[in-house]
Amino acid sequence: MTEESFAFATRQIHAGEPPLDAARPRATPIYLSAGFVFDDLDQGEARFAGTDDGYSYTRVGNPTITAVEERIADLEGGRGAVFVASGQAATTAAILAVAAAGDHVVAAERIYAGSRELLRDSLGRLGVEASFIADLHDLDAWRAAIRPNTRALFAETIANPTNEVLDIRALADVAHDAGVPLIVDNTLATPYLLRPLEHGADLVVHSASKFMGGHGAALGGALVDGGTFAWDASPERYPHLAIARGADGRTLTERFGLGAAREYARAGVAMRFGPTASPLNAFLILQGIETLSLRIDRHSSTAAVLAALLEAHPAVASVDHCGLASHPDHALAERYLPVGRGSVFSFTLRGGRAAADAFATTVRLFTRMSHLGDTRSLVLHPGSTTYLTRTEEERVALGIHPGTLRLSVGLEDPGDLAADLQRGLAAAAEASGSGSGSGSDETGRELVEQSNG
Ligand SMILES: *Cc1c(COP(=O)(O)O)cnc(C)c1O
Repeated sequence: MTEESFAFATRQIHAGEPPLDAARPRATPIYLSAGFVFDDLDQGEARFAGTDDGYSYTRVGNPTITAVEERIADLEGGRGAVFVASGQAATTAAILAVAAAGDHVVAAERIYAGSRELLRDSLGRLGVEASFIADLHDLDAWRAAIRPNTRALFAETIANPTNEVLDIRALADVAHDAGVPLIVDNTLATPYLLRPLEHGADLVVHSASKFMGGHGAALGGALVDGGTFAWDASPERYPHLAIARGADGRTLTERFGLGAAREYARAGVAMRFGPTASPLNAFLILQGIETLSLRIDRHSSTAAVLAALLEAHPAVASVDHCGLASHPDHALAERYLPVGRGSVFSFTLRGGRAAADAFATTVRLFTRMSHLGDTRSLVLHPGSTTYLTRTEEERVALGIHPGTLRLSVGLEDPGDLAADLQRGLAAAAEASGSGSGSGSDETGRELVEQSNG
């Protein structure tokens, strides 16, 4: 069921549903089976030849995984998707679908640490070179970094944790002028808040482990293809798609048209390197997606209230939430994220590491951990965790100070969360010797009520 006429909230529950089988279960069944039956030898042969699109082996395809692929593709407005075991696997599949040894990609400097290290070290060792752009908005720097062997540009729609918002349209134009696709990681926004394909991106990757699954239980990743990029416009750039011929004598662009890179990611990368998602995890992510819009509305509205509360507090030096007028990308947030700004952002305490320690150990509802996009509220000290491998100088340049903390605001009662923040801020102020630490006598709950009323 993928009728265009249904709204997001309907499609997040019904898109990609497989047909109900004989037992008629209403939830999508978990096909926890390594393989699937062939009726006869001819059918087995046809499945191996790709002329019958039935299932054979779960690494190649599985009905529960197909359901989550179709639902994510539908919500992103894509032509198709490949679902894999994690976000890292999705990014790996996206890059390896377009680049090989001797090729090059240009990426934003402020991206998920795992993606940066994947590009710099792991794919670097395989001969795929990467250049990194310090200022996401400096289009001349992106243009200058593009070389004849560049195969893609890569950036995140909302950067973590400092909330830079990508001008997708502008960077897509730079990519397309150079004849390469724009790949974006849309994990922090989710397709409910932002659909990058509508703004010119060609491929979208997700860590479905975060807001899509939404409950912090299962890992998953997706690569979504907009079906917008002509891989055969300069065949020498993508010879595996537009020149190499398969057993049937055809190139992937002849077989799959604009979907050639997606199908290479499926059959040439995921199926071979083997980051297959468990059908059980695919089910858990599918179930999470069914409440995506409800959760993201609540995540976003609570985070906006907490960001304002933090910004007003004397113990806080700055808040990096793109919904605040003080954020340099506020105008881009208004343009690209009209529905909400998500719930992952950072703030910096005046009292440095000691204040951050006091805050993080005093709060009771914010769990100290590195995950994000959970029902539970989480707090992380990026300087000593996800940015640990950077030098102090790099951290400061990236806005990660000793007093910087990242929040992933969960779905608890907003008043309880605000009161918890106030408790943490009072402890932070105490630790940095700046008095009682409360900006006012109001409790967190009263602040939330004021901002709602
Ligand atoms: C978590 C994350 C990833 C990696 O995803 P995993 O599912 O943990 O492999 C990639 N990009 C972003 C923005 C993330 O937050």
